[in-house]
Formats: sequence, C-alpha cells, structure tokens
Amino acid sequence: MTTDCLFCKIAAGKIPSKQVYADAEMLAFHDINPQAPVHVLVIPKKHFTSLNDFTEAEALLLGKMAVTAKKIAADLGIAESGYRVVMNTNADGGQTVAHVHLHLLGGRRLTWPPG
Ligand code: AMP
Ligand code: ZN
Repeated sequence: MTTDCLFCKIAAGKIPSKQVYADAEMLAFHDINPQAPVHVLVIPKKHFTSLNDFTEAEALLLGKMAVTAKKIAADLGIAESGYRVVMNTNADGGQTVAHVHLHLLGGRRLTWPPG
C-alpha cells in the first residue's frame, strides 16, 4: 500500500466506497462522480501508478481487470446494451488518481470520439 494514495486507502478499507466486487487481488466500486448511469472503477489492490507501470508480469492482472469489468457489466444489466472500458493514463489521458484503474461506463449511449 502507498500511504498517500486514495485508492490504496479504499482498497485497505480506510476510506469507504460503494463496493460492487472484491476478491484477493481486485476491487470494484461505484465512481463518486458518475459520468453515466453505470460508472464503476475496477482496481488492483496492489499499487501501480498507471498502465505505464505494467509489464509482461502484469498481463494476467490486466486480463483479470477486464474480465472483472465484463462480469460486473453482466451483473448490472448492461452487457447486451453495451458499455465502454477506459484506462485514462497521465495528463493527456485525463488521469486524476495515480493508482491504475479501469472505468466501466454504460447505461446510456456513449459518444465517440471522447473529448
Ligand atoms: P481518472 O480521472 O481516470 O484518474 O479517474 C479517477 C476517478 O476516481 C474519477 O472518475 C473520480 O470521480 C473517481 N473518484 C475520486 N475519488 C473517489 C472516491 N473517493 N470514491 C470513488 N471514486 C472516486
Ligand atoms: Zn495506490
């Protein structure tokens, strides 16, 4: 755990979240400022600053993040209507929390390209 990291604190239960899924290495919770009717964040409990920190060693973890998002999409009823998964990375990507996370967005028709 990185002591000054918001999502590490959420993963450690030190800051509350509206949890939708948890297992030994993964946590998912509702975004505090939802941009769509469904807006869930999927994070590894282990700290990585961004996707830039991932190597081949994290390939399985990254796959599990995607599969977790897929399962949550099904659980929340948006698998068939559709959804988007996004990993904002660094400033131009719009990343504001420096703990790698996947956004799961759905429940409305999303526009493309993103802003
Ligand atoms: P990003 O801008 O891609 O780094 O995404 C960070 C996301 O974390 C934003 O969508 C925020 O709304 C969300 N967020 C920030 N603080 C919290 C929190 N305490 N609980 C849940 N989501 C949060
Ligand atoms: Zn962290």
